[in-house]
Amino acid sequence: KGEGRSRYRIFTPEMDETVNFRKTIEDDLREALATGKGLEVAYQPQIALGGGDIVGVEALARWRHPERGCIQPSQFIPVAEQTGLINQLGDWVLREACGVSRRWPDLFVSVNLSPVQFRSKGFAERVIGIVGDCGGDPRKIELEVTESVLLDEEGGTVDALRMLRGAGFRIALDDFGTGYSSLGYLHRFDVDKIKIDRSFTQSLGQGSKAAAVIKAIVSLGHAMDLTVTAEGVETEIQKKFLHTAGCNEMQGYLFSRALSADQVTSLLGRRSSM
Ligand code: C2E
Ligand code: CA
Ligand code: CA
Ligand code: CA
Repeated sequence: KGEGRSRYRIFTPEMDETVNFRKTIEDDLREALATGKGLEVAYQPQIALGGGDIVGVEALARWRHPERGCIQPSQFIPVAEQTGLINQLGDWVLREACGVSRRWPDLFVSVNLSPVQFRSKGFAERVIGIVGDCGGDPRKIELEVTESVLLDEEGGTVDALRMLRGAGFRIALDDFGTGYSSLGYLHRFDVDKIKIDRSFTQSLGQGSKAAAVIKAIVSLGHAMDLTVTAEGVETEIQKKFLHTAGCNEMQGYLFSRALSADQVTSLLGRRSSM
């Protein structure tokens, strides 16, 4: 009887809520993708730590739900991944990013790619096709992948990455230092950039060993000729440390949150007339 009860306990009201939430998100996201309503892409500037120039922007999906208001990517991306909608969403973000990138000839635009997208057949060809159709330049597009993508030896992921890099795209390793990272893959794949996860940046100065980890990542990156970007920079103190440690670029609320494309354009205009 005790057994039975604990087995039934999984159907709690909360659980039901979660399942319902997922289902609603799935249905509503499918609809948003079909109608193009409520979905937007925001662009967060990436700054050179040397001269302070804006060198690029990261495209981040935004969803204004008709009833629920803004839904965070941390809520809808996992649902999109579980349902396969990430393929459509990813294509859409890439198309948007590619379209606006032509307005900013001096910047690169980074686009996040989910490991799930790499599992769909002909993925690299599709990315190349989308960028070609938009009249975009692959050399201006940076593709952000997580380390788990490189560890997935099956399913042609690695071939897809090679093909994309061969077509001129830059590849950045996102959230570097988290997850099931193993440095073993780094010498086997050509990437252009590593992005130090914001958990390290934000642990700086809190008596943790984050400073040592960041310095080690920077020297590893530079030894391999990679650009090193720090994420989640919120304070001048963090920025100063990262600059001294030799990080090339930073991204974070200290400089700017993610902006609309028009806001990016006017920010660039203001800075160039300064
Ligand atoms: P990410 O790729 O690591 O993106 C950086 C996240 O950190 C963004 O959250 C950004 O708004 C946030 N961020 C930037 N600067 C700061 C800072 O100084 N402090 C703090 N606390 N946070 C900062 P966002 O937009 O909520 O996105 C969360 C995650 O969702 C992204 O993490 C990425 O993994 C995923 N994501 C967003 N858009 C897409 C997309 O189009 N496709 C895919 N596959 N994933 C996406
Ligand atoms: Ca990213
Ligand atoms: Ca990241
Ligand atoms: Ca992340």
